[in-house]
Amino acid sequence: MTIPHMAKDDYYELLGVDKGATADELKKAYRKKAVQYHPDKNPGNKEAEEMFKKISHAYEVLTDPDKRAAYDRYGAAAFEGAGAGMRGPGGMGGGFHDPFDIFREVFGQQGGGGGSIFEEMFGGAGGARDGSRDGSDLRYDLEITLEDAARGLEKEISFRKNVTCERCDGTGAEPGSKRVTCSTCRGAGQIRRSGGIITFTQTCPTCGGVGTKVEKPCTVCRGEGRVPKTTKLNVRIPAGVDTGSRLRSTGNGEAGIAGGRAGDLYIVLSVKEHELFERQGEDLFCEIPIKFTLATLGGNIEVPTLFGKASLKIPTGTQSGTTFRLRGKGMPSLRGGHQGDQLVRMHVEVPQTLTPEQRKLLEEFARISGDANEPTSRTFFEKAKKFF
Ligand SMILES: [Zn+2]
Ligand SMILES: [Zn+2]
Repeated sequence: MTIPHMAKDDYYELLGVDKGATADELKKAYRKKAVQYHPDKNPGNKEAEEMFKKISHAYEVLTDPDKRAAYDRYGAAAFEGAGAGMRGPGGMGGGFHDPFDIFREVFGQQGGGGGSIFEEMFGGAGGARDGSRDGSDLRYDLEITLEDAARGLEKEISFRKNVTCERCDGTGAEPGSKRVTCSTCRGAGQIRRSGGIITFTQTCPTCGGVGTKVEKPCTVCRGEGRVPKTTKLNVRIPAGVDTGSRLRSTGNGEAGIAGGRAGDLYIVLSVKEHELFERQGEDLFCEIPIKFTLATLGGNIEVPTLFGKASLKIPTGTQSGTTFRLRGKGMPSLRGGHQGDQLVRMHVEVPQTLTPEQRKLLEEFARISGDANEPTSRTFFEKAKKFF
């Protein structure tokens, strides 16, 4: 692929439209370029990444009437070094800052207003006059472990979808056969019907309004232009995802028909329940049984975390239900920069059976302790006296 080089970015030139381009023309032009330069299609190609960044920026400016007016008056200088201005509400908010990661999380509500470029442009345009039809979006449900959710993972998934027919390159025509004028509408794309005194026109049912049809349908796809195929895809799940997280892979849905764009693939995640840990947002909870002797005397224990073992100091006289916090041992934040904690709740276990020697020692312990109970039980019994 050759990447055009331009001394000074001309946003209209970048998108290949002229200065009077309408919103529709911009959208169409951007879609075409975005698909061409999408990092997903050009892995490791810095120039394509740069280009993708540029066209996205150009599109963002030109679709905003105020920004477009500013650009027309002052040129690209109007936006240089003005990062803040470019990320305001309705601008590049939400998941857009990271356009190079095809697996971005689709943040639930796109904040009304302008929404993100992707929401708007990939929101699913319907059919078109040229007979093209966009491919549908697909959903893939993926269950992962809590460990995977904590660390992130790459995984190959395989699913069935309609892809562009290779034999006819999506045209639906048998190689060598031409498109011929539709005989039903004689190329008009519409037919007239007469219903008594009224005459009305309708889209030609034979050619779907295109005005032409293939002479000989493709033998593989029977003229559909697409065939079902099992497709494999490597997906990268970012660390911090939770049940209900949705990831969008642009262009990996079903192929479009007759030049229509491909749909997107949505991966909807669910995180399996974990044997030890319970998740609450970015924090993890677990309960650890400790012997009553350890709780009484204090000491160190090893605690399991999702990231290996951690040492925890149990202070002398730890009560059942005491919760300790292990900082940074929870789930990472999906947006980065923060890691939750692990909260460890102590469950003090009392022995259910005693050996004769243990019994003897504990009886001795009780005898020398006398009535000198722990402070909490002392206040409890003082309060309880009223009822006796
Ligand atoms: Zn026709
Ligand atoms: Zn075909």
